[in-house]
Amino acid sequence: MPEQHPKYLIGDTWGTASDLPPMAVVNPATGDTLYEVPCCSPKHVAQALQHAEAGFAEWSAIPGWQRAQYLRRIAEEIVKRREDFGRAIATEMGRVHAMAIGEADSAAQQFVWMAGEAERLFGQTITSRFGGHLSITPEPVGIVAAFSPWNFPLGLPARKLAPALAAGCVVILRPSEQTPLVGTILGECCQAAGLPSGVVQILQGDPQGVSPALMEAEAVRKISFTGSTRVGRLLMAQSAQTVKRVSMELGGHAPLIICPDADVPAAARLAAKFKFMNTGQICGSPSRFFLHEEVAEAFTEVFMSEAENLRIGDPMASETTMGPMASPAQLDKLERLVSDAVERGATLRLGGGRAREQNKGFFFTPTVLENVTDDAEIMSEEPFGPVASLTTYSDLSDAIARANSTQYGLAAYAFTRSEVVARRLSAELQSGMVGINNFQLSHFEAPFSGVKHSGVGIEGGQMAINEYLTFKTTHAEFE
Ligand code: NAD
Repeated sequence: MPEQHPKYLIGDTWGTASDLPPMAVVNPATGDTLYEVPCCSPKHVAQALQHAEAGFAEWSAIPGWQRAQYLRRIAEEIVKRREDFGRAIATEMGRVHAMAIGEADSAAQQFVWMAGEAERLFGQTITSRFGGHLSITPEPVGIVAAFSPWNFPLGLPARKLAPALAAGCVVILRPSEQTPLVGTILGECCQAAGLPSGVVQILQGDPQGVSPALMEAEAVRKISFTGSTRVGRLLMAQSAQTVKRVSMELGGHAPLIICPDADVPAAARLAAKFKFMNTGQICGSPSRFFLHEEVAEAFTEVFMSEAENLRIGDPMASETTMGPMASPAQLDKLERLVSDAVERGATLRLGGGRAREQNKGFFFTPTVLENVTDDAEIMSEEPFGPVASLTTYSDLSDAIARANSTQYGLAAYAFTRSEVVARRLSAELQSGMVGINNFQLSHFEAPFSGVKHSGVGIEGGQMAINEYLTFKTTHAEFE
């Protein structure tokens, strides 16, 4: 296959020409420029909106049963291109290659699962107490602007595209400027699946080139954004001007509570696996560890030894278990948070800085901070990197209160053998998702969503399609 470069897709035409200068796309494992991404401008937005209106007229008229067949074909195309996705994800954002291939398989399954929802898209008929019948009909909201980040550059767009297409919406997707080739290949899969022109379009490059025009457009009736709370707030405020529907999957700062009755070595091994997965750049990654004082040392010993055994390096190499950070800005932030925690009394047990032996790229060592004080910035600011902040507690009520003390409420985890304690934790942790004795919270068949400043709306599960639907009530009376 010839070397591929990122492109944008407007209507059914791919392009690279733009009135704005392109941006460099950097391989985080080397710091070298891979290629340039064309930056789309308001002109491209205007063209894409015209195609989207035509695409919506066609796509929304296709019955859900047939739309499902297109979704299944997209899944097949993604599986066919899994090697291309794997290479693009690993080189553009640094995910370990085997995991990157896994992301392609899981994105394909997302489309398969949502195809079933398209087939089950029913209305309701109710006898009206005023006479006649009420028919309640699901209708697609219209043109969707979807903005996705770089940390799961295929999985997160798939979570938006699959329910939107299943509902009968059309999507203008703006993939992260750091992972534009992944977005390009996804667009190619949609085209290869035979989607009509204008149903999925891809605008690339600097968000400032396209986001304001999309946000101002009356024709865009819904936005779906995954990224930081800071940008999410901005987009919510902008949406108010044209009263757009919004789905927001925002930041997280997940607490992990280890109870004294837990299987401590097993919990520590699993916690290390999930903490350092994707170099800690996962919104649901455990980041604040509340260890019962009776088991803290036992937990820390196993956790540290797992962290020490990670093999940092080239994400394409089979022996690598942890790749680089996606960008140099992340390194600066982590260094600042680690030194602030140490200044406020934490002990640095492992790592704490750039992995100098790599000599190039954006590598950060797996880092363990112990006795982190509640006032350390890292206990309230999302680290989004391979840093575990450990602290102890003696009373569960206190641990829960401290776990709930941030603005975030995406994921929370706890390890206990007691079902009574587990029920209490599930009820009292202020979080959209709770993992008890496991970290697996991303399921096609269940909602993935946050509370508080972690977001609005649902991705995943049966309810996710409703984010892209309105329900029209018609009251009809005939003699
Ligand atoms: P970010 O908000 O800076 O950027 C996210 C994406 O939004 C990028 O592609 C960026 O180019 C784009 N963007 C920036 N400004 C925009 C604008 N005005 N309009 C439209 N798009 C714009 O976040 P980041 O630091 O790159 O990503 C990590 C963040 O994403 C973390 O906070 C993480 O928790 C969050 N995240 C949340 C989830 C979830 O499901 N809740 C999943 C993954 C990541």
